[in-house]
Amino acid sequence: MSSIVEYASVSERLKRKAEQHHNSVEWYADSERVVLWIPSSSKEGKRYAVVVKRSGSIVKPCNCIAFKQGKKCWHMYTAYSYWRGLKNTPLYPVVGQGDRVKYVGDEAKEYFEETLAYSWGLKEKSLREQVESREELIGEELDLTSLSRALQVLEEFIGGLIE
Ligand SMILES: [Zn+2]
Repeated sequence: MSSIVEYASVSERLKRKAEQHHNSVEWYADSERVVLWIPSSSKEGKRYAVVVKRSGSIVKPCNCIAFKQGKKCWHMYTAYSYWRGLKNTPLYPVVGQGDRVKYVGDEAKEYFEETLAYSWGLKEKSLREQVESREELIGEELDLTSLSRALQVLEEFIGGLIE
């Protein structure tokens, strides 16, 4: 497994880019890892998740085009600089954005596990959860209160025909 330290030295251009976007990077850290949610500088709304262990091993590298082409991208440099800043912090879970801490402790862990991990594309809902959310949806769709009056009229009408 390669180490995030390999991305410590990048061009000045990439460092500047990382600096420019520093405050819009969202992140989560706990006793095991640092997870980064880094914006694309060219595609609005597009973001890349990078996961690095506290030891520096890269669990999930960037999947931007530059990285896939074997180039060092500023996202990986950003991941390196956040990892360097966070690796020696206390071991409890923290959620933040830029230099700002948003949640700490159980609240941070819960927010990451139940919300961020899904929206950052790191976890997919289990089949059971998918079925449950679909059932909720169907439950709503099958709310037939508005239709029941019409059905009642129809029943009366049919009843009238039979008699
Ligand atoms: Zn990248």
